[in-house]
Parts: sequence; C-alpha cells; structure tokens
Amino acid sequence: MRIDKMLSNTGFGSRREVKKLLKDGAVQVNSMTIKDPGHHVDVKGDTVLVHGEEVSYREFIYLMMNKPPGVISATEDHHDQTVIDLLELEDSIYEPFPVGRLDKDTEGLLLITNDGQLAHRLLSPKKHVPKTYFAVIEGEVTEEDIIAFQQGVILDDGYKTKPGDLKIIKAGLTSDIELTITEGKFHQVKRMFQAVGKRVIYLKRLSMGPLKLDETLELGEYRELTDEEIELLM
Ligand code: URA
Repeated sequence: MRIDKMLSNTGFGSRREVKKLLKDGAVQVNSMTIKDPGHHVDVKGDTVLVHGEEVSYREFIYLMMNKPPGVISATEDHHDQTVIDLLELEDSIYEPFPVGRLDKDTEGLLLITNDGQLAHRLLSPKKHVPKTYFAVIEGEVTEEDIIAFQQGVILDDGYKTKPGDLKIIKAGLTSDIELTITEGKFHQVKRMFQAVGKRVIYLKRLSMGPLKLDETLELGEYRELTDEEIELLM
C-alpha cells in the first residue's frame, strides 16, 4: 500500500496533510526517512514511525454497540442521528457501517464493521444466522403463541415465517419474552406478534449468531470486539 494512503487511513489527515508530514521528514519506514508519498509499504511487515511513534495499520474494525432508541441504523441520514454519528472520529476513519438494521426504537446489540464479507455472511438469508430478542408484549403471551411461532406465522404481506423459538419469561397484562429467529425481514419481530394479534412495546436484541450483547455497555456505548469474539464470527 502507498505510504500516503496508509497514513491517511490511520488518521494522519488528508493525503495533502500526509504529504507535508513526509516532506518534513517525520516519517520513517524500517528506520529510513521516506519523503515519497508513493513509496510502497508492506502494512503487515514494515515498521512505520511518525515522529518516532509506531503506526499500526489494520484493515478492519469490529465494534459492538448497545444501540440506544431514537437513533437509526444507517451510515448517514438527513433528519436523525445515526449509530455512526455516535462513534469517535478515529473509528469513522475506517468507514464502518452497521451490520443489518434495528428499528429506530429498538435497542441492543448492533455490530458495526467495515468487513463487508463478514457482514454478508451474517446477513445472508442462506446462512440462517439466529438472532435473539428480548421483548415486552402488550397482553398475555400464551402456549398457543409458542406453537404458532414454531409452525411459522403469516405476516401482513402473506409471507410465512420460518420457525421461531419463543420463550415466555413472564406472562400477564404485559409479557416478557425472548424470541430467536433465523431471518431478518423488515420489522420481523413486531410483525410476528402482530400476526398473533399482539403488540411489541419494547424490543432489544440480545445476540446475533455467536455474538452476545455485553450488558455492561450503557445505551449508546460501544467497544471493540475481543479477539475471541472476532474468532467466533469468522
Ligand atoms: N424485528 C423488529 O420488528 N424490529 C427490529 O428492530 C428488529 C427485529
């Protein structure tokens, strides 16, 4: 990779600013001062220093966010704040995007990355990646609902869902439930409950495939995935 691209990608400014750094003799590659912006570096093997500090380059960033309500799962929007707006500036250098969508009012686990292949694997309908949600439902969720979800329910557009695993945590005037589904249709959880005549009043995603929400993250907080979590996803 060109040295100017590498430094620009790791937060040392625009190509023009990086060119100035190079011209000023601030950049060393394997102990040699490099002034040519077109100089090629091996981002894994070469040691690159800027003002004597080592620069580590990595291609991908993997973040887990506890998505707050009121924020949309997109990279940009004219009206609303997006999950990407909540990131620190240096994270956005990597141009990450949310893997799949949670509704504006939904909370919980959102993976944010720039690894397109991983995103594709997690979102591909063929892979049937399970996603588990906690929800509060208006009204009493019953054993019949569990059976209906196991068999698949017909959504408002006529689509019959794949089996969903519904667990009742607490049933009453409002019910707490957990639901695991392997699809990602638009508003799927809300529409599945609508199909059995009930309404979701709170929704939070707990897990996506092997990745579980870190419950120590406050709403709107995020952290990098650990090496173990990345390994689980690969
Ligand atoms: N299902 C929904 O209805 N909304 C979400 O945000 C996620 C799943």
